Amino acid sequence: TSKWARAEAILRELEDKCSTPIGKLRQVADAMTVEMHAGLASEGGSKLKMLISYVDNLPTGNEKGLFYALDLGGTNFRVLRVQLGGKEGRVVKQEAEEVSIPPHLMVGSSHELFDFIAAELAKFVASEGENYHLSFGRQRELGFTFSFPVRQTSIASGTLIKWTKGFSIEDTVGEDVVGELTKAMERQGLDMRVTALVNDTIGTLAGGRYYDSDVVIAVILGTGTNAAYVERAQSIPKWHGLLPKSGEMVINMEWGNFRSSHLPLTEYDQALDVESLNPGEQIFEKLISGMYLGDIVRRVLWKMAEEAAFFGDTVPPKLEVPFILRTPVMSAMHHDTSTDLRVVGTKLKEIFGISNTSLRTRKAVVEVCDIIARRGARLAAAGMVGILKKQGRDAPASAGEKQRTVIAMDGGLYEHYTIFSKCLESTLSEMLGEEVSKNIVVTHANDGSGIGASLLAASHSQYL
Ligand code: ADP
Ligand code: MG
Repeated sequence: TSKWARAEAILRELEDKCSTPIGKLRQVADAMTVEMHAGLASEGGSKLKMLISYVDNLPTGNEKGLFYALDLGGTNFRVLRVQLGGKEGRVVKQEAEEVSIPPHLMVGSSHELFDFIAAELAKFVASEGENYHLSFGRQRELGFTFSFPVRQTSIASGTLIKWTKGFSIEDTVGEDVVGELTKAMERQGLDMRVTALVNDTIGTLAGGRYYDSDVVIAVILGTGTNAAYVERAQSIPKWHGLLPKSGEMVINMEWGNFRSSHLPLTEYDQALDVESLNPGEQIFEKLISGMYLGDIVRRVLWKMAEEAAFFGDTVPPKLEVPFILRTPVMSAMHHDTSTDLRVVGTKLKEIFGISNTSLRTRKAVVEVCDIIARRGARLAAAGMVGILKKQGRDAPASAGEKQRTVIAMDGGLYEHYTIFSKCLESTLSEMLGEEVSKNIVVTHANDGSGIGASLLAASHSQYL
């Protein structure tokens, strides 16, 4: 058979194995709801950790004063200061800075990583202008967004369960990450107290709620993926503490670790998982999030090169390099609207050293991107429907009742990969039907997590 026929066969098989018809998506959504119940019932009851965040009150708008936030969760970390002016003033002003984490620190020692972070934070604090006002005699307070699975022990403490997203630092696992940061701040001579430790999903939920009181779910689609939502405190059997006055508790699902026999997994996903830093874990994340989508595409192209000589008689060696194709590049190729798919041609040359590709070849590459991106987006939508079901918000409200549901979304993948986000939103409507979906709003909470963490730092201030 010809190169084209063999390549076509690989593509059709990929399409078939990755297909997500509505019936399958409903099974995924149902499985998500079932696992949510199990994870809430008992510790270790599910792959979904359903972590209790200790956030039982979301921002009201009354928060006031100068607060800091620190966001660590991917390749960059961000520091933020915000002057909150209460109901009238709202966010009076804010300033943020982003610092990339030197890769060797992601796999080094805990001490070095936190020293680096504390040093950058100290520099940022030192640059505070005169238009920011800390009340007299007060210590600076910080909301720490730490987007890895943490078992919280209070609103401002928690131990790291495991690293994800390419971080791997043995000596942090099992430690209180607030303790680690606090000690590093002391070493830097920085006088600051962490008053809230949150996950980026919790931060996004809090930030979203500050601007819209109907926000009840937050989803992150960035390097990794995760979701948080507002649960009724009495629906958490594993919670043995006092029931909060609000009757509510925010749950950090850690949904990246979801897995189910209904997930459409391929040989490419299996290989990616086996070769990853965390085999067997974060299976949902590995199908959906920005860290992995590009690498799945690379693996398909590699197979096409090996088995169909798709890029010539020899296999371009760079196709074998893990993570050489990043998701932003995949996205750029997927969004190429030029008639000769010029961007695809350029990227294939730049990334893999494959030159002189024909239009037909480029089209096939775009098709691979399309299959992988749509599968991820549709599965993410199914996960969201699972949460809505758990909250009883997936069906029309009873007569006379007005129920608006807002989902705050954030993350670079959602923000920049337009085909992905459009597909996610249309899949939500497809699954929920017209009547329900008109009351469900998906909003982009741009850096909601930073603002959210500072709002939670404010509402858990030592001076209240
Ligand atoms: P993090 O998740 O690391 O906290 P972000 O929310 O900013 O950070 O997300 C960054 C991730 O978003 C990147 O790792 C990448 O996978 C994805 N991303 C960024 N830009 C794009 C893009 N243009 N197209 C697709 N994905 C993108
Ligand atoms: Mg982030």
